[in-house]
Amino acid sequence: MNVYDSERMGEALNTAGYHPVDTPDKADMVILNTCHIREKAAEKVYSELGRLKKLKDINENMIIGVAGCVAQAEGEEMLSRAPTVDLVFGPQTFQALPEMLEELADNRADALEENGHIKKAKGVVRTSFPAEEKFTTLFETPRQPLVRSPAAFVTVQEGCDKFCTFCVVPYTRGAEVSRAAAEIEAEVVSLAQKGVSEITLLGQNVNAWLDAEENDMGLGQLLRRLAQVDGIERLRYTTSHPRDMDDALIEAHADLPELMPYLHLPVQAGSDKTLKAMNRKHTAEDYIELVDRIRAARPDIALSSDFIVGFPGETEEDFTATLDLVKRVTYAQAYSFKYSPRPGTPASEEEQIAEDVKSERLARLQDVLNAQQVTFNASQTNETLEVLFEKQGKKVGQMVGRSPYLQTVHVDADETVIGRILPVKIEKAHANSLSGRISSI
Ligand code: SAH
Ligand code: SF4
Repeated sequence: MNVYDSERMGEALNTAGYHPVDTPDKADMVILNTCHIREKAAEKVYSELGRLKKLKDINENMIIGVAGCVAQAEGEEMLSRAPTVDLVFGPQTFQALPEMLEELADNRADALEENGHIKKAKGVVRTSFPAEEKFTTLFETPRQPLVRSPAAFVTVQEGCDKFCTFCVVPYTRGAEVSRAAAEIEAEVVSLAQKGVSEITLLGQNVNAWLDAEENDMGLGQLLRRLAQVDGIERLRYTTSHPRDMDDALIEAHADLPELMPYLHLPVQAGSDKTLKAMNRKHTAEDYIELVDRIRAARPDIALSSDFIVGFPGETEEDFTATLDLVKRVTYAQAYSFKYSPRPGTPASEEEQIAEDVKSERLARLQDVLNAQQVTFNASQTNETLEVLFEKQGKKVGQMVGRSPYLQTVHVDADETVIGRILPVKIEKAHANSLSGRISSI
């Protein structure tokens, strides 16, 4: 979602006369689009700002902005904690970027007049987001992608009302709001006309998407509609909550060849006691039954998930239940984290698990998950997969694409393959990617 928001910021700035450069030292403006989900991600912002300050010491006209959820959470405070920052703006305010830049220019002119230099110019802070207008103000301008890629993200839903007890998202991104189906379709059509063939629908809770204006249309029906758009060959969506996987969505997996057989369906933990304390509102068995239904609808579907270890109150037995669930479900890929207490969330006020216990559990969980990923990748050796080629690889003559299961696939080929979906015979499986040979062009 941050990648998508950054793309939209780039587009907004492009209309204001900016264009992208490769490295910060060549830039007149650097914006850090930040994440507040775990402490580690939030702390990174300040170390990065320290590095940028050195560039600003050389070029005092440089503008430094902090966007996203850390900006949202810290607001005004950020200007005093990091005086090098000129712009602070939350995740739903980026459409105002050109306007904020004008305000900053005025502040700099005032400071120049009063103090003789711009260093003390007042920073600009925007952190309010009017929920109802979110999508109208945020996405009213048509997309003008700066980076040409055959795969694009489209935000369909923002915010979250679920309030899992570990999570800051409902506080930083605000209440759940869905974007209208017609508007989403228009964006997809315009992307398809620019050569995009794969769309990933985005939302914090993407499968809670609902167009109340259009007969309570849910994500399953939306996907059916988008599958008919000329030029769209692949559809994906992320991130789903197990509670919102309804029958219509599961049926879409059975019926739509465009809907890729890969689903990120975070479970977080395998113990019912922990799931309840997390306020996930389902049991481990509910999740396993759901997975069985999805697999019955689309037998070749591969799954991925997020996991948290060391949530307050998690015993060795609770943790073992997570390992058991992983072994029962088997994942193609997964993200796993040590629980990180976040300010303002209920779980942060509970008694915390010792850091070394968290680290030890994370290592044990990752051993199992990594082994499953290696097995999944290895199972594709000698198979032929349809690969959408997106860009050049790091090595000369190498092109990179994605399999239906979102695996990175490398082949030796020239640039003419970019944007095409071609069959690739997989010759080698690695821990995080596959390599092979194009079967025919
Ligand atoms: N809406 C998605 C999750 C979005 S946050 C869902 O409900 O699944 C992405 C992931 O970050 C979560 O799935 C969770 O595993 C992790 N996460 C969120 N808050 C966290 C915290 N306080 N500590 C550790 N991991 C966290
Ligand atoms: Fe956070 Fe996801 Fe829970 Fe919402 S559903 S509170 S985004 S973990």
